[in-house]
Amino acid sequence: NTKPLNDLEIAQQVELKHITLIAAKLGLDADDIEMYGKYKAKIPLNKIDREKVKTGNLILVSAISPTPAGEGKTTVSIGLSEALNRIGKKTTVVLREPSLGPVFGIKGGATGGGFSQVLPMEDINLHFTGDFSAIEKAHNLLAALIDNNLQSKTNNLGLDARTISLKRVMDVNDRSLRNIVIGLGGTGSGIPRESGFDITAASEIMAIMCLAEDLEDLKRRLGNIFVGYTYDKRPIYARDLQAEGSMAALLKDALKPNLVQTIEGNPAIIHLGPFANIAQGTNSVIATRMGLSLSDYTVTEAGFGSDLGAEKFLDIKCQSAGLAPKAIVLTTTIRALKYHGGAPLSSLTTPDVEALKKGLPNLEKHLENARLYNITPVIAINKFISDSEEEIEVIRELAERMQVKVAVADGWARGGEGAIELAEKVVEVVEQSEDEFTPLYDWDMDVITKIETIATGIYGAEKVEFGPKAKKDLKTIANLKLDNLPVCIAKTQKSLSDDPTLLGRPKGFTLTVREIEIAAGAGFLIPITGDMMRMPGLPGHPASERIDIDQEGNISGLI
Ligand code: ADP
Ligand code: MG
Repeated sequence: NTKPLNDLEIAQQVELKHITLIAAKLGLDADDIEMYGKYKAKIPLNKIDREKVKTGNLILVSAISPTPAGEGKTTVSIGLSEALNRIGKKTTVVLREPSLGPVFGIKGGATGGGFSQVLPMEDINLHFTGDFSAIEKAHNLLAALIDNNLQSKTNNLGLDARTISLKRVMDVNDRSLRNIVIGLGGTGSGIPRESGFDITAASEIMAIMCLAEDLEDLKRRLGNIFVGYTYDKRPIYARDLQAEGSMAALLKDALKPNLVQTIEGNPAIIHLGPFANIAQGTNSVIATRMGLSLSDYTVTEAGFGSDLGAEKFLDIKCQSAGLAPKAIVLTTTIRALKYHGGAPLSSLTTPDVEALKKGLPNLEKHLENARLYNITPVIAINKFISDSEEEIEVIRELAERMQVKVAVADGWARGGEGAIELAEKVVEVVEQSEDEFTPLYDWDMDVITKIETIATGIYGAEKVEFGPKAKKDLKTIANLKLDNLPVCIAKTQKSLSDDPTLLGRPKGFTLTVREIEIAAGAGFLIPITGDMMRMPGLPGHPASERIDIDQEGNISGLI
């Protein structure tokens, strides 16, 4: 009658190794790393080896369209990485940093689950090494410089306050700050205008940090942030406020990736974390390159399904950084497939082969998506206790029909041991496949064609419609000569379409682009479909109610 251990209890049972021992596995001495206590370190950028980056084996972990709980990409990534190390492949898992919004909100932490976790999970889920705080400060510095410029008599650029879209950011879900008026209090306290707060992960600085090559490139991108127009319609960028130097100074340590360990004492690099629906949803270029430089296999995760994180990973990040994944692991759960087949969320733990079969087209589409990039997919069935053998067999049959390798991944319950079959299949693909990654579109195509290529190719849309605001934005983009940027489409993760209620594999739908935002610093355009939330709210009973710390400093209630 013993209660199964929860994630935090499992994590707290592990005897952590000193971070120098983890660094040693990557060929790094104590002097090579910058220690943050005993179990965390930053790796300096000069440890990136451009030659090894080119030859290393990059594995992307994506997923089918998820249920609200998440289908276990992080858990599968960690389990796979443990298993690759067990079968003799020197492997590093490279992940995003958790955002505090979900930690205290609904979803909980983002450090894996069960016996596939990265440690120390309390630290990684809370302040970690302060990267998010640095991004928040750099972002809010720019915001302050903008409002200061509006107020200034001697240095006024003539910005039209109504054209400024940059808000402040902070890393707490707080819906009451979404829309506010700032600058109240009379002539000495600024120019009153409408503004608000986004969550830190939604900051353009987060997206910039994840694509930056080094400090010089970081400054260039920060300087390129589009601030707004003057009254005589001149564009103003962050560089016009001479903001990029001080912002980059604040970000100097945040740009270095963080080294931690997995439950089985293998290296894990965890760095930054942009949203996957409005931004590119994957850790930094620097972190991925670091993984490739220091190990033979690098396993990394991109947020939500292949239509969001993977598409952006491949078309934006890989094209920007010259990376080429050798395999895509498609995290699949029986519960999500039943959900796509029409079963209600409340009954997903009951075996239901019929619903599962009806949900399979969602998986088929995500597999086809991987092939659009000429990358071989491998299905990882992330095993839940409620899965029946009969249900697992249905997915194996589909895999055979589609000539895709499939493995049950049980890293959650059994750690690396539970993911060895998956690791072996991934190695087979890497060693045997002659496929070469090809991006879906060229950045040089015109903006409409780029959006249409993704919508029809990846989402399965019939056509794309552009609303009046989007049409106006297209003209602005052309005026600013930004039409050669890639597109980072903001779309719901719940459906392959832009309608969250269309589950499975929707067909014949029209994707509606409402507006197109400019992230000139990050270096992409953001066509917006549906309503995009940049500052989530907390639920009635937030996860924070369960979190506590005792007199000895032991944390409880983090999941
Ligand atoms: P994603 O990265 O796709 O969002 P995570 O790996 O963070 O998903 O997992 C989401 C949640 O589901 C976590 O709380 C994790 O502990 C839990 N989880 C993942 N895999 C399993 C599993 N096989 N069995 C039970 N719970 C799991
Ligand atoms: Mg995850």
